[in-house]
Amino acid sequence: MQTPTLLQRARLPRWLLPPSWPSAGSQPALADLRFANGRVQSVQPHQPQNEHITGTWDLNGALVLPGLVDAHTHLDKAFTLPRMGAVQPGLLGAIEAMMVDRRSWTEADVRERAGRALQWAYEAGVTHLRTHCDWWEPDTQPLAWSVLRELAEAWAGRLTLERVSLIPLHLYTDRSAAMTLAATVARSGPGALLGGFVHSTNWDPQALRHLFEAAQHHGLDVDLHVDEELNPAASGLATTASLLQAMRFEGHVVCGHTCALAAQETSTALATLDAVAAAPITLVTLPITNLLLQDATTGRTPRLRGITLVKEARERGIPVLVASDNVQDPFCPVGSFDPLEALAAGVSAAQLDAPFDRWSEALCRSDWLRRSPAKLPLQSGDSADLLVFTAADAWGFPSRSQPRVVLRGGRVASGQVPTHWTTPQPATEVTS
Ligand SMILES: [Zn+2]
Repeated sequence: MQTPTLLQRARLPRWLLPPSWPSAGSQPALADLRFANGRVQSVQPHQPQNEHITGTWDLNGALVLPGLVDAHTHLDKAFTLPRMGAVQPGLLGAIEAMMVDRRSWTEADVRERAGRALQWAYEAGVTHLRTHCDWWEPDTQPLAWSVLRELAEAWAGRLTLERVSLIPLHLYTDRSAAMTLAATVARSGPGALLGGFVHSTNWDPQALRHLFEAAQHHGLDVDLHVDEELNPAASGLATTASLLQAMRFEGHVVCGHTCALAAQETSTALATLDAVAAAPITLVTLPITNLLLQDATTGRTPRLRGITLVKEARERGIPVLVASDNVQDPFCPVGSFDPLEALAAGVSAAQLDAPFDRWSEALCRSDWLRRSPAKLPLQSGDSADLLVFTAADAWGFPSRSQPRVVLRGGRVASGQVPTHWTTPQPATEVTS
């Protein structure tokens, strides 16, 4: 049964349901989801059926999520680690190793590695993926940029791929050079954003202003690597928030990492978060790479976590997404382009409570990547792009979340459908 018409007794996360949804004990009541023409037709609290309807899957409480968003990846660098020698620990050591490897990149090499990454993401149930792309030359478009554009076109309809130009801040020092860079990015097709690497080692508030002025002028959204360090003096995020307010910036802004908040005095960090909430800015936290790259010294066990203040951010209504970042490159030896893996790391590193009912939202809200209205709760007319977890439960989630059935447009795109879902049950045994 590859095209169900009814998912019976589905366990949806609380954030995806309307406030009036009934409870069963401490949990939301199970749901019945009907599909038609690849879309959700209705979402209702479960009602026992008197007869078996063809196309019914009885999930018996299996967890269901909408299609996943991987808000921050690096497809151009993916899978480069196996061909590298020893890499110095920490962020700056990884950047150095990457610079050497990049000299031998070809279009075919990038296409093969990034294509493999997209295939893995697709199988995991990702419907929207944003990649950064290293852009180190002021006058030349990097070879990977156009390959990623080709891949975005090739994958359209299956997965939305956005590209961010990851440009070191010093290339924006000169205002006209900043304008030229933004013009090149804006001309390079849909799904392109202006990006930057903002760190205390290259700090230049004037260059950051030029970046935003150039983005504003060319109508680009912005996605930055900001304060990916534990230096409490790092002020990229605070400066970004005040610049956006002062300029009345009209695009959407995402700031990734912002680890330095965790190293600052609480009052300083919280004042910055208040400004981030007002700006507004979406934050993306990357727990796997932060744990691996922050407080990293050879032969010494790390003491600090490097995770930004996700709970304090959510408390202020700031959208926070959890994403993969680097996968199997000098920045990060592990990873699989499965956002659930990043969430699992975040649950431990940031002590996230209610991972399914609350924090799975951080893997699903593509509207948080741009200025677009929220599509909540799950309702009639939404695309039937859904993940059904065959072995996980809401208590241990995201443990055992690897076995999953991915529905795209209501059809099974990957995964094994358990036979007991499709076997008709006697009506008397169907309970809520
Ligand atoms: Zn990154």
